[in-house]
Amino acid sequence: MSLYIVSTPIGNLEDITLRALNTLKEVDLIAAEDTRHSQILLRKYDINKPCVSFHSHSGRAKVEKIINELVNGKNVALISDAGTPGISDPAYVLIKAALENDIKVIPIPGPAAFLTALTASGLPTNQFVYLGFLPLKKGRQTLLNSLKEEKRTVVFYESPHRILKTLNQLKEILGADRKIAIGRELTKIHEEFIRGTVLEAIEILGNSKPKGEFVVVLGGAGVV
Ligand code: SAM
Repeated sequence: MSLYIVSTPIGNLEDITLRALNTLKEVDLIAAEDTRHSQILLRKYDINKPCVSFHSHSGRAKVEKIINELVNGKNVALISDAGTPGISDPAYVLIKAALENDIKVIPIPGPAAFLTALTASGLPTNQFVYLGFLPLKKGRQTLLNSLKEEKRTVVFYESPHRILKTLNQLKEILGADRKIAIGRELTKIHEEFIRGTVLEAIEILGNSKPKGEFVVVLGGAGVV
């Protein structure tokens, strides 16, 4: 039948659309990145559906199992731990397999952390580049060097234990004055935006051990 790509909250459990809730209530099976994590959301909205896990370590056999359910007439909803499935999480493999099997893929739009951060960043939004997570080793230096000339706003995800190291690299390569907005713990109780230059962000974040989830929005070259 159909594979529904259902966006779920990135923190605040009220950030879910009526259509997403109705879809989760109506499908036969929910494929979730972490079934235990998703139970918090599903319980809040009284959704009792069979769940199967689908995460980055799920092998071909798991993909085939879910595709079989679809081919046998089941409707399946795919959800990730947060936000929109397929945005820096493992949904792509399943979506591709579904399309190869002529299964209808229906997106149910909702939150994504990178758009949430971008819209409130105060940096130009007319054109932007989304980089997901920066490569840890191979290609990292080349990518960071390429940002020197990048005129569009650049958005990427970063972990709390790497954020300061990355900001220091940005300072070295792009200069201390490059504009930046960092969204932390978006939509949650401790939501915070740090807006200013790369140097100012380092000074603010360097005061204590960075905690939580981060989106980095970097101004393009020449943005004042
Ligand atoms: N699919 C998700 C989306 O639509 O945004 C992204 C999944 S990716 C595995 C997780 C990363 O997204 C986190 O490490 C963090 O960088 C970012 N992220 C997710 N939720 C966030 C939040 N509430 N505040 C800030 N960043 C968040």
